[in-house]
Amino acid sequence: MSDCLFCKIIAGDIPSGKVYEDDTVFAFNDIHPKAPTHVLVIPKTHIPTLADAEDPVFLGAFMEKVNHVANDVLKLEAGYRVVINVREGGGQEVFHLHAHILGDTSGKTKLPF
Ligand code: AMP
Ligand code: ZN
Repeated sequence: MSDCLFCKIIAGDIPSGKVYEDDTVFAFNDIHPKAPTHVLVIPKTHIPTLADAEDPVFLGAFMEKVNHVANDVLKLEAGYRVVINVREGGGQEVFHLHAHILGDTSGKTKLPF
């Protein structure tokens, strides 16, 4: 999608701190990190929100890639947190589906529930 920030990052039109890329996903450092490790994993296809991703095969494959980035690329052995904000009410600012991987948090980014 031509006016989407994350599609431009995938295309290389906007620079990013890439940590992983394959045929279906792209992962890069969040520009405003909320934890010592803060990486965004995005599908290469433009899907605006999690609520728009209805295909269970796609969703399963996407989450497997999130795990792959966290465990095999970032090697977050101590653990990590995965956050997907959905629409404005969920705090979503960029409307291209993305999973936040937050690592090395020592529990500091835990929600109060
Ligand atoms: P969300 O609020 O879930 O939509 O998250 C969007 C995230 O994208 C925020 O954490 C931003 O810091 C991050 N972000 C925005 N622009 C960029 C960029 N050019 N490169 C890397 N991360 C970005
Ligand atoms: Zn996009």
